[in-house]
Amino acid sequence: MSDAQSQSLRALIVDDDAHICAFIKTFTDASNFITTTLSESENFSAVYRDDYDLISLDLDMPKIDGIELIRFLGEHKCRAQIVLISSSDKGIILAAQDLATNQNLSVLGVLDKPINPSKLIDLLEKCHHRVESQMALALTASSLTARGTSELPSIEELRAAIENNEIDVHFQPKIQLPDQNFIGAEALARWTHPEKGVIPPDYFIPFAEDYGLIEPLTALVLNKTCAYISKWTEIPWDCQISVNISELSLGSLDFPDTISRIVKENGAHPSRFILEITESTLAINPTAALDVLTRLRLREFDLSIDDFGTGHSSLARLRRIPFRELKIDKSFVGDSDSNQECRIIIKNTIDLARSLGLKVVAEGAETQAHIDLLTEYGCDKVQGHFFSKALPNEQFLQWLHKWQNRSKDNA
Ligand code: C2E
Ligand code: MG
Ligand code: MG
Repeated sequence: MSDAQSQSLRALIVDDDAHICAFIKTFTDASNFITTTLSESENFSAVYRDDYDLISLDLDMPKIDGIELIRFLGEHKCRAQIVLISSSDKGIILAAQDLATNQNLSVLGVLDKPINPSKLIDLLEKCHHRVESQMALALTASSLTARGTSELPSIEELRAAIENNEIDVHFQPKIQLPDQNFIGAEALARWTHPEKGVIPPDYFIPFAEDYGLIEPLTALVLNKTCAYISKWTEIPWDCQISVNISELSLGSLDFPDTISRIVKENGAHPSRFILEITESTLAINPTAALDVLTRLRLREFDLSIDDFGTGHSSLARLRRIPFRELKIDKSFVGDSDSNQECRIIIKNTIDLARSLGLKVVAEGAETQAHIDLLTEYGCDKVQGHFFSKALPNEQFLQWLHKWQNRSKDNA
């Protein structure tokens, strides 16, 4: 037995053929699983527990088939590794696999009948590895975030920083192509810790999400953004400010009301804001957040798909969501100098998005070559270090003053 198999895991095998259950059990027993078998799928809900590590499902069963069980597992937010087994053609197994993934289930693999023993053994081994690495990750996350490190603050310090309003907002300009006029800015959260220096949002946003702090953090970012923009005098009336929204907020039906209230209490109007939602959030199940997103649009917030290209979803799947803007992830722009595939992806994304009526923003433009390429491809807006990185409010206003005058000088 390998190291990864040293710990006992729990397996549930569901197949209407008791011989197949027994056959699979021989292998799970040998691979250190405590195994339960079930040949009457109608009893599934009685046998199901949320501590199974592995569930193997036969898709073709007479009373309750595997597809219904997949739905049940999705509804119960099952965390087990799922193996799908069928004697049907490959297309059906792959469709079932898609369905399971759409329900946020973790599909370990698929097996045809008759079952090939060496493929089964491989999958059981893979299950041990996955469970071990998930446990290691959970352990690291909980111990690190709870206590912090010499470079990174603890979760309690993050909580205090939010409560004391110590997190600031910086602004990165968005520039329209081809005229290079200023058309808005993205508000990005910045935390400067008194001893540990600048803490990147990629570090503290996931912790805020894990420890129930994301709502107060979003409220803080929105309040600060509103307070800053209410004092801006040189900004064109039609420029919009982008604010990032966590995927967790899309699960909360109160969210549209909460943020409308914050914006109105600050004397601003929702149409002044573009809310950015990362594509990876929507990739798994684009329709899950549809009600919250639609209500945000009804309250006149604009919506944008952030980091497009990283979540592997197609625009065809996202088209029903009322977005008005799509942001091409900075990794494509950064690699566009050396990688022809990236250029093709950028060009095709721009063409498709524009034909669907979306404005396209490219993130991470750092060089004149990037600007030239994006202008040639007909990209609507750019954001990137070539124009400016995200700046504190005062510096941002100075940058803008220079930029507006530069535009006048060129006119
Ligand atoms: P994002 O929304 O995709 O923001 C763009 C990120 O790219 C920013 O990183 C920005 O500083 C960086 N960037 C912009 N232009 C360039 C460039 O030319 N080159 C390079 N290398 N980077 C560039 P930042 O500020 O570190 O934010 C990282 C992510 O953290 C954001 O990605 C966003 O997902 C998240 N985030 C930031 N603020 C908030 C917030 O208030 N709420 C939530 N939920 N997420 C936030
Ligand atoms: Mg963003
Ligand atoms: Mg982005």
